[in-house]
Amino acid sequence: MATLDTRRFTFMQLMELDACTRCGECIKWCPTFAEKPERDAITPLRKIEAVRRFLNRQYGLWARLFGPRPPSNEALQEHSGGTYDCTLCGRCGVVCPVHINTRSLWIAMREALVDAGAYPAQLDHLRETITTKYNLSGDPNEKRLIWSENLPQVPEGVKGKSQAEVVYFVGCVSSFYPQSYSVPQSTVQVLERAGVDFMTLGGEEWCCGFPLIIAGMGEAALESVRHNVEAVRRSRARQVVTGCPSCYHTWKHDYARLLGEPLGFEVLHITELIEQVIRAGRLALRPSEDKVTYHDPCDLGRTSGVYEAPRNVIRAIPGVTLVEMEHHHEYSLCCGGGGDVEMADAELTAAVAARRIAEAQATGASVLLSACQQCKRTLAGAARREKVRLRVLDITELVARQMA
Ligand code: SF4
Ligand code: SF4
Repeated sequence: MATLDTRRFTFMQLMELDACTRCGECIKWCPTFAEKPERDAITPLRKIEAVRRFLNRQYGLWARLFGPRPPSNEALQEHSGGTYDCTLCGRCGVVCPVHINTRSLWIAMREALVDAGAYPAQLDHLRETITTKYNLSGDPNEKRLIWSENLPQVPEGVKGKSQAEVVYFVGCVSSFYPQSYSVPQSTVQVLERAGVDFMTLGGEEWCCGFPLIIAGMGEAALESVRHNVEAVRRSRARQVVTGCPSCYHTWKHDYARLLGEPLGFEVLHITELIEQVIRAGRLALRPSEDKVTYHDPCDLGRTSGVYEAPRNVIRAIPGVTLVEMEHHHEYSLCCGGGGDVEMADAELTAAVAARRIAEAQATGASVLLSACQQCKRTLAGAARREKVRLRVLDITELVARQMA
């Protein structure tokens, strides 16, 4: 029988397991449990209870009294199912009265489950693909700039530079999934128009490692992390900018910790850079009469704290009306596309996305904006399936359209 390794949990996380008061506040905010109420193991409360019980029976007082007993395979599988049916949206952490850092705790649980061999089989394929092909899709990595091929004019920064002030890190989804090509296409047009000295890494860009880190397979991401940082250092860039909130979060919050040294350059989300160039008067925008609403991507908002830059960019377009959905900022609903859930349970992702689309529709907006190619892909798919007349765009697309 497999055991659960306590070394995957920090001292603070072991204290957090004990600190949970079982108040159940987190349960009503969990978007995946809302769609699968028969699956108790998804709830934060049950995940915490399960690990506390496993550890107590292996190492705690119970083990001392009756001898160590590892969890049964059924109990481990049940806990694994609930832990991987979580989008890692972090909403439970916002409402937890004792401030448990739930998202980090769920990742530590996944790491322990990987050690115990109790994880979804699809994740082996994910690990194999990313560590051998260096991207999420398994396409040849030198094709990373395929999205630029039908641009009317390819800016020099896309493939003509080996050094620049800013490296635009495109990310796997924007690079390889055709539904997302319009996001990097718009981004490079905006950067070019604003006079930003930028470059991409082309085939030297490797997956940022985020899908492996959140799968509980962070060690497998280390080679990518080192490779990417070295590639940026060679470019002498002062800044790395990314449109993908998950890449952003990983570069900004995980890379230095994983490497054990400072990066030596700044990491920005594209909305932060666009906000700066608009403020500096380097990007003029035409008026628009659109009524829009904005979906906070979990990895940009809740987990990285970037709420205002995207809203300020939207407000900088003269005439645009921005209305908020019922849940926004730190209480924003997840789009359903996070946490590797789609790989294990596409129906669950679709159900969460449908709920978010309904919230957007209720605002009366004609455009649903996000600042993430993955949210855009997930929400646009839901709008199509639910037959909702709502245009789903990334902010960079709206900005590129309104450039004077
Ligand atoms: S992170 Fe999100 S999906 Fe996961 S348990 Fe918390 S609220 Fe539910
Ligand atoms: S809200 Fe926090 S303390 Fe309450 S049950 Fe959930 S994790 Fe435990």
